[in-house]
This record gives sequence, C-alpha cells and structure tokens, in this order.
Amino acid sequence: MSQEKLQFIAGERREGSSGKELSIIDPSTGETIATGVGADVSDVDAAVAAAKAALPGWASATPAERSDLLLRWADVLRARSAELTALESRNGGKAIKLADGFDIPGVIDNVTFFATTARNLEGKASGEYSGDHTSSIRREPVGVIGSISPWNYPLQMAAWKILPAVAAGNTIVLKPAELTPLTSLLFAETAKEAGIPDGVINIVTGRGSVVGQALVEHPDVSMVSFTGSTTVGKQVAATAAGSVKRVHLELGGKAPFVVFEDADLEAAARGAVAGSLINAGQDCTAATRAYVQRPLYENFVRRVAELMDEVKVGPADDMDTDMGSLISIKQREHVAGMVDRAVEAGAKVVRGGRIPDHTPQGGAYYEPTLITDAAQDSEIVQEEVFGPVLVVLPFDTDDEAITLANDTPYGLAASAWSSNVFRTQRATREIQAGCVWVNDHIPIISEMPHGGYKASGFGKDMSTYSFDEYTNVKHVMSDITGEAHKGWHDLIFTGH
Ligand code: NAD
Repeated sequence: MSQEKLQFIAGERREGSSGKELSIIDPSTGETIATGVGADVSDVDAAVAAAKAALPGWASATPAERSDLLLRWADVLRARSAELTALESRNGGKAIKLADGFDIPGVIDNVTFFATTARNLEGKASGEYSGDHTSSIRREPVGVIGSISPWNYPLQMAAWKILPAVAAGNTIVLKPAELTPLTSLLFAETAKEAGIPDGVINIVTGRGSVVGQALVEHPDVSMVSFTGSTTVGKQVAATAAGSVKRVHLELGGKAPFVVFEDADLEAAARGAVAGSLINAGQDCTAATRAYVQRPLYENFVRRVAELMDEVKVGPADDMDTDMGSLISIKQREHVAGMVDRAVEAGAKVVRGGRIPDHTPQGGAYYEPTLITDAAQDSEIVQEEVFGPVLVVLPFDTDDEAITLANDTPYGLAASAWSSNVFRTQRATREIQAGCVWVNDHIPIISEMPHGGYKASGFGKDMSTYSFDEYTNVKHVMSDITGEAHKGWHDLIFTGH
C-alpha cells in the first residue's frame, strides 16, 4: 500500500486539504492499495486558478504546437502503457486482458486522434452573405472546463473529457470518481512529462457532493462536462444553470439488443454475452435487454447460457480471467438486490444470480447472470443494473421490437441483428439512441461520436463532433462598403 498525494494542481502532485483520508481499494481482493487525503473547496479554487492562469498561453498556442505536444504525450503513454494497464486493472478490479486490449490502447489512440484533429478545427468558409459584409467564423476555446468522471472506465473517461478540451485550446480541472483516481493522476503526470504546460490539466480527487459540486459552481469555470449517472447528471445541470454554464452530459444507458428471426443465431448469442459482460457489465452501452423474435427465442436463451458458462470470472491480474470483479461490494449489493427483486416479481434466473464460490475472498465478484420472464415494465428491464446481467425477452412483430427497444427513459446505444438490410435500416432509423450497431454491439472508435438521446444526456465525446461542445462559435461580420451611410440605416434615419 502506498501513501499518495491525490491532487495534481499546477503541474505537481499535492496533498488534499480536506483532512479526510481516502482509501483506494483493489475491489478484486478488497485490499487497500493507496491512501491519501481528499480535496476540499480550497483545492478546487487552487486548481481552477492554475487552469485560469494557464489559459491565455495555451489558448494562443498554434494548433501545430498543441498537436506536437499531444503527439509527444502519446509517445510517453506508449512507453508507460504497462504501468497504466496494471494500475487501471488493479484500481477497478478490471480483467487485465480488458485494460491491456481496450482501455489503454483506446486512450493512446484518442490522444493521437486529437493530436491530428487539433489542426483541423473548421468553421464555415468566409463569405459575403449580406452582400455588404464579409462574414467569417472563429472557433474559440470556451475557457476553463470543469469535468467530472465515473469509475467504470476511469482512464478512458478522463481521456474523453481532457482531450477534446485541451486540443481545442481550453484548460481543464477534472474530478475523477473517488474510487478510481489513480490512472487519471498518472495521466496528468504523463502530460507534464510530454511538455504540456503546468496548469493546462489539473486533477482534484474527492467526494462528488463537495469537490464536484464546488467545481460545477465555480465562477471561473466556463463549462461543465460530466459523465455519470442520470440522477447526478440532473443535479449537475441544475447547479450549472445557476451560473448559466454550458453543460455536456453523458449519462446512464439501458441498451436494447434486438434479434430478428433471420439473424445469425451464433453471432447474436456471442455478441450478447460479450456485449453484456464486458467490464463486468459496468458499461453504459452494455447490452442489457435482448429482445428476440419468437422463432429464435429458446435457442438463443440456451446458447447464451452455454456461452456464459465459458466465461472465466477471477482475479483481475490473471491474464486468463475474462471477467474481473465489480467496482465495490456496495455495487455488488446493488446488482444482487435488483436480481433478487426481479425474481420476487416473477422473473427466472437461468444462469448466475449469485456470488461465485471460487473467487478471492474480499473481492466484489458476481456471476454472469441471465434472466428471462421479466415484465417489460419491471425494474430490471427499465433501470440501469450496471453489472453482469442480461435480460432476454421474446417479441413477435417488427413493430413490437422497435416499440420495446424505445421503451425506457434512456437512449445511449442499441443494436439490431438481422440478415435483412431493410429490417436493420428501419431499426437504425427508428431506435432512439446515440449509436445503433448492426450485427455487433460495443465497438467504439475515436473518429466517431459517443453520446446519448433522452435521459442518457446530450453532447458528444470523441470525434470532431466533440469540438462543438468545447468551442464557442463566433461570427465576425466586417463591412466591405467603406460607406458612412449604409443601406440598412434607412430603418432608423428617415430620408437623410
Ligand atoms: P455517479 O453519477 O455516481 O458519479 C459520477 C461522478 O460524479 C463521480 O466523480 C462523483 O464523485 C461525481 N458526483 C457525485 N455527486 C456529485 C455532485 N452533487 N456534483 C458533482 N459531482 C458529483 O456515477 P458512477 O457511479 O461513478 O458511474 C456510473 C454511471 O456512469 C452509470 O450511470 C453509467 O451509465 C454512467 N456512465 C455513462 C457514460 C456515458 O458515456 N454516457 C460512460 C460511463 C459511465
């Protein structure tokens, strides 16, 4: 166990000022891996002040200068990727195979993507739209960004917030989830190692209701970007409204997985198991509700159950582990509680629904769980479980499938499985979600946006669309007539 300084402010690791010790746990064993002192409001003030001081220099750096530094940062991250992988896995109880094959390469790819797009911040071409003026568009940084991230993919979520912000010339203060701050802190340190100026990226660690709240309220923070639950997202938006801050919200999800009768059954079953169990189901886009057309239903349930039996649940640091632990014992209680209540309401547990008996004592493990016979309006179908739980329900007609897919408050992601292009085209058009996969579920890429519809929030992470969140669009309109008496003045001066 190490004693850590859990704040990174103005280019240096610092102790928090709250006086309250934070214990950082490895949830796959229950062991404390680090302790440190959480931030309080004075640390938020210091971090925002550092970001504000760094803003003029960073905002006026040329796109090429910012791009070069981001490319150097990617090199540093590549050199330290084994360290980042081990830490991400350990702090999250995440199977090391996942951290190694998905989290860390994804982050490095994001850095290189934003390094290149930093040089391509485009607006409309200049033009004489009124006839008497040249209009042009400037895309300017918004200012100091306050970002708040969740625990499920700590480093990827930090990267998704930090990269478009700094690529566009903003500076940032990020508050990671208090359970998982370690890789965000290391990420900021690697940025410094690459030469990114002090104060451009700052990290404050502590409780959401104190540190997060102070960041959202801060008068020198111009925009808040938040990834987390819909409940907290609503609070953040309400607080930000008090100072008219721009808000970008990436919230919960409850992704439908629609399997039509002409789908490839094996592909769909494998996709459902991988898509529901990735990151132990703690993924906002995870497949959570599979709707299967009646002729395939029984075989689909049987095959998913067989494939779930093949998934090895075990210690996060074992390369043979397919699925690690949940983030905490508290989260496991939440998942188990939802499964138990589903059973009380009449649902059947086909697989799992329990704590495995072979996993390390003290770890927050839960078995891959397959549920059938749940009612569409029940909690397990409507609410986020955020655990390794897949519910499968039958449907008869295509109309019914679309209606069911859209029948939750969320709209983050969805998938449609069919060999009929007209069916998949209809599903992609009519399912209300920020991403609809066809014959797959989960893959993401830096070039394409990620973000929600409905209660899953608004605004986009990744891709050049994210620059719409992190830039202000300014219209510059310049007179080209050189005349004192302009045509439109007749509206105010009559006849002279
Ligand atoms: P959470 O909402 O509990 O916490 C998210 C962050 O908000 C944490 O850093 C927390 O400390 C902070 N926070 C809590 N109260 C706050 C307040 N009053 N003011 C400011 N900040 C506050 O979420 P979580 O449990 O950490 O993460 C899981 C949730 O995140 C799930 O709902 C999941 O769907 C969502 N998520 C969404 C996406 C997406 O892209 N849409 C991605 C990952 C996770």
